[in-house]
Amino acid sequence: MNDAKLTRQLETWFDANARDLPWRLAVRDPYHALVSELMLQQTQVSRVLKKYQPFIDRFPTVQSLARAPEDEVLAMWAGLGYYRRARMLHACAQAIVETHAGDVPECLQALQALPGIGRYTAGAIASMVFHQRAPIVDGNVTRVLLRLHNKPVPQTEKDTVKWAWQRATNLVEASNDPAVFNESVMELGATICTPKNIRCAQCPARSHCQAFKAGTTESIPLPKPRAKQKHMYCATVITTKAKVQGNSILLEQRPSTGMWANMYQAPTIERDDRAHTHNEVATHSGVEKETLEELGSFMHITTHRIVEFVVYRADSIRPTQNRAYRTLDSLDQVAISNAQRKAFAIAGIE
Ligand code: SF4
Repeated sequence: MNDAKLTRQLETWFDANARDLPWRLAVRDPYHALVSELMLQQTQVSRVLKKYQPFIDRFPTVQSLARAPEDEVLAMWAGLGYYRRARMLHACAQAIVETHAGDVPECLQALQALPGIGRYTAGAIASMVFHQRAPIVDGNVTRVLLRLHNKPVPQTEKDTVKWAWQRATNLVEASNDPAVFNESVMELGATICTPKNIRCAQCPARSHCQAFKAGTTESIPLPKPRAKQKHMYCATVITTKAKVQGNSILLEQRPSTGMWANMYQAPTIERDDRAHTHNEVATHSGVEKETLEELGSFMHITTHRIVEFVVYRADSIRPTQNRAYRTLDSLDQVAISNAQRKAFAIAGIE
């Protein structure tokens, strides 16, 4: 494979075909790149597009993000999932303010030393913002590389990942512009060399592609062994109240560690190994068992968990130190998981 020729072809194709995305400015802002890269991890572009600009409008600088309360950061992240990334981005902004005077560092090692910044994100910022010859490897890049070399292996295997980083290093060294080259491979993986419905007819790398020549594109990479999902059972109790300032719902804050840490929810109990009883739900919520009305149930499925929710309504729950009524109008400024929003919808709260 002629690396110089391949990288030129990809760069030319990207210059002519790149999607117009709000974080792809002619001159990249390092802080905006940091936000977009963390949002894009394990999340589709279409979802990030809805959240990116409001987040930047609310926290326009690294300093404004660093001094924001975590609650507000989580609320602006709501809907993107994987909330650990929001906490890491927040911690990262604070570290940049404290140790780099508010400037995102240019050096790969300094970037990787920041909270939440792994090899991929450090490489993306170093190359796309600061034009350094730093490689990047994620699922899209690995899939493209495996097909170019006709390697039918699962893409998450340790040896495969190591190989992909080495190939990406060679290619970025051979490229004309590391920023354009890295984005071109990502874009190819996102739009042409996709997991399914591969569009080889439109691919700028087709003449180099060993899998295309061998007719094996559809079977590369091999599927990865499926992660075992944990089953959980939750019961959520919705209580609303008409107040002078508008209808309100009782919310409590979750613990600061574990699933949906620090986020808000209607009073909820969760069990690992068995379904809850009405008695447990009533006791946890502080209401009489007879006043509980079962409204419905739903499954919330993520990569690692299958959570079965049963939703109840109760007439009245007394606020406590950790439970308070919040107006329905203010819910879009509160950090609430998608699972809880589904529970609210069952109770007619959108
Ligand atoms: S020719 Fe097809 S399989 Fe090969 S890199 Fe291009 S899109 Fe992917």
